[in-house]
Amino acid sequence: MSIQVLKPKYHVEECLEQIRECLEIGWTGMGFKTVEFENEWKKYTGHENAHFLNSATVGLHLAVEILKQENGWNDGDEIITTPVTFVSTNHAILYENMKAVFADIDEYFCIDPDDVEQKITDKTRAVIFVGYGGRVGNLEKIIDICKKHNLKLILDAAHMAGTRVNGIFPGTMEGVDVAVYSFQAVKNLPTADSGMICFKDGGYDDICRKLSWLGINKDTYSRTTVQGSYKWAYEVDYLGYKDHGNSIIAAIGLVQLKYLDKDNEYRRTLAKIYDDLLSGHDKIKIVGANYADECSYHLYEIIVDDREGLLAALAENDIYGGVHYRDNTEYSLYNYAHGTCPKAHELTQKNITLPLNLWMTENDARKVAEIVIKHTNK
Ligand SMILES: *Cc1c(COP(=O)(O)O)cnc(C)c1O
Repeated sequence: MSIQVLKPKYHVEECLEQIRECLEIGWTGMGFKTVEFENEWKKYTGHENAHFLNSATVGLHLAVEILKQENGWNDGDEIITTPVTFVSTNHAILYENMKAVFADIDEYFCIDPDDVEQKITDKTRAVIFVGYGGRVGNLEKIIDICKKHNLKLILDAAHMAGTRVNGIFPGTMEGVDVAVYSFQAVKNLPTADSGMICFKDGGYDDICRKLSWLGINKDTYSRTTVQGSYKWAYEVDYLGYKDHGNSIIAAIGLVQLKYLDKDNEYRRTLAKIYDDLLSGHDKIKIVGANYADECSYHLYEIIVDDREGLLAALAENDIYGGVHYRDNTEYSLYNYAHGTCPKAHELTQKNITLPLNLWMTENDARKVAEIVIKHTNK
């Protein structure tokens, strides 16, 4: 069987059972399982607020939109972000007519606190921190910088489902204003497409619930009584989009959440095999993780000189690596910032994502490592 870079594994029978419940009672939309999933997520993480959405992309947009609206930010104001991420992170800034200012990355492939401070101007309003591959990097220093300069902090926790720091979920740390998780098909808690937005401020959570359902001020679920009678009246407070999640997808999330810690534990076992076998080779640089024994390890990334050659060598063995990510300032939308993050630019010419997923055996990881070593020492 081929070894893929990211491949989700589902508890199929349990998921089908949960979905069946939705179909049988005739409630597949927002409410019911979405509420249950929000409550389980809050219990699991310690977040005080959690709102289930149809993706993390819309969550990041809502985060920027609500912070902008509620804090009186202007078009053209700046948010400091990373060039090494999925474009959702940075599109969220552009959707709101703000400017993405890029900070360079550190050894963890997360934004470097020193460069973040360099990039602050009188127009800076917020920082978006991406927990790359589940890593926390220097998040705590970024929190201090945001406090010092009175900036909001958005955590793109798309890779961080299950990541802890000394037992605490980083998104719940004092100083993080909002955390956005992805439960997209290949993330650590895979559903199909969905996400969770967790505001620290309950008022923002209220606004978010309206905005994510066209601005309507009361959802249908809470307007329906146990007897089935239905209060039809509602107000429309905002020009919102349709961003909320549904019960079918939440049903999958509820099942997968039960196994998340165990799944992440196994990812760490595979990552440890890579670490042990690949470290000490001059031509292979591992993108390390701090708090590695609590990291979700969404991605295992290495730096090699001959990326294309290595990808081809792996493919010859029916093993498929990936690349996370291309330097976003190489895309036309962001190339005004090309050259502002030299380290990110250099490292993203050579980074490769090794397969790390729950279908792999420990021997699969050894086999991958062996090919990597053989090829890079050629
Ligand atoms: C996957 C991902 C997103 C977007 O998540 P969706 O749920 O697919 O919208 C955002 N940021 C990062 C870093 C991601 O990897």
